[in-house]
Amino acid sequence: HRNKSAAFPDERERTLIAIKPDGVQRRLVGQIMQRFEQRGFKLVGLKMLQVSEDLLSQHYCELRTKPFYPSLLDYMSSGPVVVMVWEGHKVVQTSRTMVGHTNPAEAQAGTVRGDFSFHVSRNVVHASDSPEGAQREIQLWFQSKELLKWECCDQTITCEDA
Ligand code: GDP
Ligand code: MG
Repeated sequence: HRNKSAAFPDERERTLIAIKPDGVQRRLVGQIMQRFEQRGFKLVGLKMLQVSEDLLSQHYCELRTKPFYPSLLDYMSSGPVVVMVWEGHKVVQTSRTMVGHTNPAEAQAGTVRGDFSFHVSRNVVHASDSPEGAQREIQLWFQSKELLKWECCDQTITCEDA
C-alpha cells in the first residue's frame, strides 16, 4: 500500500491567477479561464472585485521602489479584476509558462500574454511566481472559507495516483 502524498507531495500546489482590468474590459475572462480548465487544473476559488489600494500595495510590495509602481497601481485599480486560485501538480511553474513573459513583446505565441497583449503596461494577467509567493498572495486575496475542497471527476485519469 503506497503512500500517495509522499509519491506526489505537490499534487495540491496552488497558485493565484488574476485577470487584470484590461483583460476584463476586453472580455477575455472566459478564454483565459478555459486554458487553465483544459490544461487539467482544478479551480478552488474565484471572485470578481474592485481592488483596494491597500490590497494592491501589499500584493506588489516588492515593486514599490520601481519607477512604474504608481502607474501599475493606477492600472490595477482602473476597473474590476477576476481573481482565482488553481490547484494541481506544479501549477505555479506551469501557469507561469502558460501566461508567458512579463513583457508581452517577449512572450511567445501560445501564451496568454503572447496571444492577447503587446505592451508591458497592459499585460492582461497575473500569475504567482513561486509556491511561497502563491501562498502569500492567496492568503492576501482570499479567506480560507472561500477556497473549496472538492473532488474533480477526472482526477484519477489525468494524473497517476492523484
Ligand atoms: P510578473 O510577475 O510577470 O507579473 O512581473 P513582475 O512581478 O516583475 O511585475 C508585476 C507587474 O508590473 C507586471 O505584470 C506588469 O503589469 C508591471 N510591470 C512590470 N514591469 C513593468 C515596466 O517596465 N513598465 C510598466 N509600465 N509596468 C511594468
Ligand atoms: Mg510578479
